Amino acid sequence: MNVSDILAKGSFSKKDIVKLLEAEGEDKILLFKKSAEVKEKYIGKKVWLRGLIEFSNICGKDCLYCGIRKGNKNLKRYNLSDDEIIAAAKFAYDNRYASIVLQSGELESASVTNRVENLLYKIKEMSGGKLGITLSVGEQESEVYRRWFEAGAHRYLLRIETTNRILYSKIHPINKKHDFDRRLQCLKSLQDIGYQTGTGVMIGLPFQTSEDLADDLLFMNEFDIDMCGMGPYIEQADTPLIIHSDKLLPINDRFDLALKMTAILRIMMKDINIVAPTALQAIDSVGREKALKTGANILMPNITPGKYRDNYRLYDNKPCTDDSAEDCQSCLEARVSLADTEIIYGEWGDTKHYEKRLQAAGGRLP
Ligand code: SAM
Ligand code: SF4
Repeated sequence: MNVSDILAKGSFSKKDIVKLLEAEGEDKILLFKKSAEVKEKYIGKKVWLRGLIEFSNICGKDCLYCGIRKGNKNLKRYNLSDDEIIAAAKFAYDNRYASIVLQSGELESASVTNRVENLLYKIKEMSGGKLGITLSVGEQESEVYRRWFEAGAHRYLLRIETTNRILYSKIHPINKKHDFDRRLQCLKSLQDIGYQTGTGVMIGLPFQTSEDLADDLLFMNEFDIDMCGMGPYIEQADTPLIIHSDKLLPINDRFDLALKMTAILRIMMKDINIVAPTALQAIDSVGREKALKTGANILMPNITPGKYRDNYRLYDNKPCTDDSAEDCQSCLEARVSLADTEIIYGEWGDTKHYEKRLQAAGGRLP
């Protein structure tokens, strides 16, 4: 079957997705045209913001690809004070971002549970309940997720990273702390509790194939996610995975694959939120805008206080680490208008997908 026949279908098989991921020339243009049409029809030209607060780079895990892994000693560790976090959240609220993401390395402890819970209450209080809060602080017990949900977090981002278990074990240490089944179980708990649940993968990992990426997209569809944050894998010199750099696709091919993944997911899951990830901008200065054109509808401007940003070094050449939150805002507005899209201020930007799930569950989830 050729690409235009595949694009005319109502759903894609694994073989179809592989063919779309490998599309070049005219076929690639067809794919991007179709995903842009789907986005226009189901989402419109709108883009919603999530102010990203990278509140700590302290992590108890050792993922082999990540620059803030526990074992990296070439990094100054930081942990924002509660006041700094609330000031950043207030910046988002005052600038009508309507929503923030609290992200950090992964720590599981009673003090972290209490701290995050307390921060959620304080941010809700500061904003009169109006600021939407997404958490992205890794794997936790379901009781912890439940407490945070009750304290006001309504979305959670936990990338599955890859759905190929063998590949998962190649990019993580093999021990109980880095267990694929636990990550999956965490995603299920989040969805059961009623979070708008987001996941995603890294694209262009060493040993990863187009078949793996096709399985990743099928997993997202099957799991019925509400949000997706996925982006290219980018090397970080101080990580163990760097030894496999010779097995990587050229960086521009990884970028291209990430755009194709975004486009295909938009066609498959028409009304979910898809993030235009910062990692694209590390490769191409207008990478995120390209993702907006091909299907993404969410931007996460970094509003972490500038002095800390250089130390949230997940990968090399992470962009905007010298900027302030104000710089981010004006830069984003210019960029978004370039992509012929419009930032919607003052709205949470919940997905129609989630609303439908909610209605189907009689107004409340689970
Ligand atoms: N610690 C939490 C977790 O792992 O879910 C949240 C923060 S973690 C830094 C956020 C994401 O960064 C991870 O899910 C991973 O996909 C991404 N990341 C880490 N290292 C990366 C790299 N070298 N290239 C691209 N993305 C990377
Ligand atoms: Fe820690 Fe998340 Fe990085 Fe893994 S990806 S080392 S859990 S910050």
